Amino acid sequence: ALEIISLSKNFGRSQVLRDISLSVKPGELVCLIGPSGSGKSTLLRCCNRLEEPSGGDIVIEGRNIHAGTARDLQRLRARTGMVFQGFNLYPHLDVMGNVTLAQRKALGRGRGEAEAKALEMLAMVGLGEKAKAFPAELSGGQQQRVAIARALALDPTVMLFDEPTSALDPELVGSVLAVMRDLKARGMTMLVVTHEMAFAREAADRVVFMDGGLIVEEGPPEAVFGAPRMERTRAFLQRLG
Ligand code: ATP
Ligand code: MG
Repeated sequence: ALEIISLSKNFGRSQVLRDISLSVKPGELVCLIGPSGSGKSTLLRCCNRLEEPSGGDIVIEGRNIHAGTARDLQRLRARTGMVFQGFNLYPHLDVMGNVTLAQRKALGRGRGEAEAKALEMLAMVGLGEKAKAFPAELSGGQQQRVAIARALALDPTVMLFDEPTSALDPELVGSVLAVMRDLKARGMTMLVVTHEMAFAREAADRVVFMDGGLIVEEGPPEAVFGAPRMERTRAFLQRLG
């Protein structure tokens, strides 16, 4: 579903991504781990063109994402649901407004269709009763689940998560991870940057360890966590304790 081919990215003289190749198959959940500054967020941001790569290609559903028109870019952004650490909900809109806005603007859906889709997605993340609440009335975990519902409402073919639980109080992390596990069970394709090693170990099909802009090691979680081949992977996992 998502294919990253020899991707590189420079900021000025610093090379932040070096020849990254990674594919995520339909229905697969790939967890991306690695130290701060290793390029994880930059890689994700390249996938929906929040960042333009310096070299290489990204192909989503058979289409090179750098080939299209402005209209194609808008569609690409809808098709790659992105969820960040901060939830970025509009504070002046209620939950329904937040989940319908992009559907109407990016996909041109009418109000009725957008609201029906929003209710369906809110129910899926366990917030069917919160459509009229404002973001400030919700916990961080609930706000993050609204952000997930908002992304899902655009019918993404792949979901990109960048540390979706890092900003949450510990007791709220579980509800967001549960939604992500549920999405996986429903067959969603997901690329997830996370520091939640227990989640990566138990939910990921594959774990990719990045360091210094390179993919150092990748494999099934039991291999990467249980018997890492590379010294840098071992050192990173040891530091986490
Ligand atoms: P973290 O775990 O802290 O989120 P990360 O692996 O997501 O780290 P990135 O945010 O991708 O790392 O950053 C990789 C490198 O690129 C860092 O050295 C960072 O300083 C640099 N970088 C990121 N964005 C920019 C930018 N817009 N301009 C210049 N340098 C940048
Ligand atoms: Mg990051």
